[in-house]
Amino acid sequence: MDSITSIIEPNNIKRLLNTEFVARHIEYFDKTDSTNEEAKRRPHLPSGTLFISDTQTAGKGRLGRKWESPGKDGIWMSLLLKADIPPDKIPQITLIAAISVCRALGNGSKIKWPNDIVIGTRKVCGILTEMSGGTSYIILGTGINVNNAGFAPELKEKATSLFIETGKKFERSEIIAAVMNEFEPLYKKFSENGFSAVIDEYKNLCITLDKDVRLIYRGAEIVGGAIDIAENGGLIVQTQNGIITVTSGEVSVRGIYDYV
Ligand code: ADP
Repeated sequence: MDSITSIIEPNNIKRLLNTEFVARHIEYFDKTDSTNEEAKRRPHLPSGTLFISDTQTAGKGRLGRKWESPGKDGIWMSLLLKADIPPDKIPQITLIAAISVCRALGNGSKIKWPNDIVIGTRKVCGILTEMSGGTSYIILGTGINVNNAGFAPELKEKATSLFIETGKKFERSEIIAAVMNEFEPLYKKFSENGFSAVIDEYKNLCITLDKDVRLIYRGAEIVGGAIDIAENGGLIVQTQNGIITVTSGEVSVRGIYDYV
């Protein structure tokens, strides 16, 4: 696959964009701790600024977990969004971002509630939304495994890449532009009409629904059946003791037997 370039070129991304403000300004790094941290250090940049790093030395998942971000193979990026969004609606931005990644990646990618994109039973993408400066800005971090040929032993069972799934290498700039092009109209729809405007598409893509799941909350486990997505984006679970709604940020969800 010689035609695949090994560097991400911001101008190549910009050529492919049909957005108004999303990714119109790009900050590119060869290496940084985390693109979410870069965005936090530069909140004065325009809304829609996209931070991309070829390698992250301290990529993060939720709840302080580590996100493997090796150079050349993946997309590690964060979008700075400045908008007056109430704190309880911020997790919904993660859900919208998940829809846009699914649309852009195709190849059977689905959403594992709330913030992971999976192909089959393995994770191809993780999304981490953070707020900073009160709620005056939101940082939407997205990590996508694109051309990775393999993973460290501890991740092998739960991680995959587009290359592993399809046998093809992908141009990272094209995928970045595709995600941005999908995200902007969804984000506008959400800003104008709320999460209910996109909930049907989210449910259609969400493989967690209609499955038995283990909810891991502060070390304790609850088993139940995931029955629906709430109007606020929470996961509605039927447990032995009744129906509960859990919100992202506080729980991890696993399948009964494996990761999905
Ligand atoms: P979850 O809620 O599924 O535990 P997080 O959103 O907290 O996931 O993401 C962090 C977890 O993702 C890590 O604990 C690790 O197991 C896994 N992980 C780390 N790097 C990668 C990667 N590049 N691809 C897929 N999974 C990863």
